[in-house]
Amino acid sequence: MDAHVIQRMKSMTLFGRTKALIAGCVAVCVLAGTAHAQLFMTKKEIERQTRVQWLTMKRSLPIHPSKRYQRYAYCVAHQIINVLDDDFQALDWEVIVFDDPAANASVLPGGKIAVYSGIFDVADTPAALAAVLGHETAHLTQNHVIERVRANSGTNALVILGNAATGLGGMIGAGTELGLMLPYQRKQESEADLVGMHYMAEAGYDPRATLYLWRNMADRDETRPSEFVSTHPSPDTRMADLASNLAPALIEYNAAVEAGVRPNCSL
Ligand SMILES: [Zn+2]
Repeated sequence: MDAHVIQRMKSMTLFGRTKALIAGCVAVCVLAGTAHAQLFMTKKEIERQTRVQWLTMKRSLPIHPSKRYQRYAYCVAHQIINVLDDDFQALDWEVIVFDDPAANASVLPGGKIAVYSGIFDVADTPAALAAVLGHETAHLTQNHVIERVRANSGTNALVILGNAATGLGGMIGAGTELGLMLPYQRKQESEADLVGMHYMAEAGYDPRATLYLWRNMADRDETRPSEFVSTHPSPDTRMADLASNLAPALIEYNAAVEAGVRPNCSL
C-alpha cells in the first residue's frame, strides 16, 4: 500500500475505516474462513496465523546448511532470551538461519527468530549480532509486531495472512513481507533500539557494538529491502540517539560482567 493511501486511511472516520476494512476483507476472509475475526484480529489469532507463516517459511525458504551458523545464531539469541521477562522466556523459541543475502533478521510472535545469512556481513562480531537480535526481540516484547499486523490488517497483511492460512500461491514473498518488509513506525524503531541495547548489555555484550553495527549498516550497499536499511531514522540520527543513551547501558553491561555474565558464542 503506498503512502498516500495509508494517509487517507488514517484520516478516515472510524465508521469509514470499518467500511473500508469490510470491503477489503471480503475476498480474503471468505478464503481464510475467519470472516468475523479480521476486523480487529486478536493477539491470539495473530499468533496462530504467524505460526502458520513460520511453518511456511521453514518449508519454503532455504535453511542455511552451515551447522556452525545455526549454532552460533542460536547461542547469541539465547543470551538475549535469557534476560527477558519470564513470560517471554517461556515461549517455544526457535532460531533458524536462512540462506539469503539480505542483511536482515526478524522475531515473530510465539518466539520464532529468522536470521538471514547476509546479516553476518554487517553483524560480524557476537556483540553486533546481539545488537541485531536485541533490537528484533524488542520489537516483539514491546508489542510492535502485533501492532504492525493490526495497522496493516485492512490490506496487505490481511491478504498475506489469508494466503498463508489457505495455502495459496505467492506465500514466500507475501509471508516475508508480513514478517520483514512492512516498516515499523519511527518511534517503534527508536524504542527497539533502546530496549534492544538494554537487553544486550544485560546479556553481557558491550552496548557500544550497536554503534559499530549501524556504521556497518550505513556503509553497506544494500539493494534489497531490509528492516535495517529501509526504515526511517537515518543511520546518523540513529547512532546519535544510541550514543546519547549509551551511559546507562554501559553501567548495566559492567554490572553484568562483574556478576560473571560472560557469553561465549563464537562462529
Ligand atoms: Zn526495527
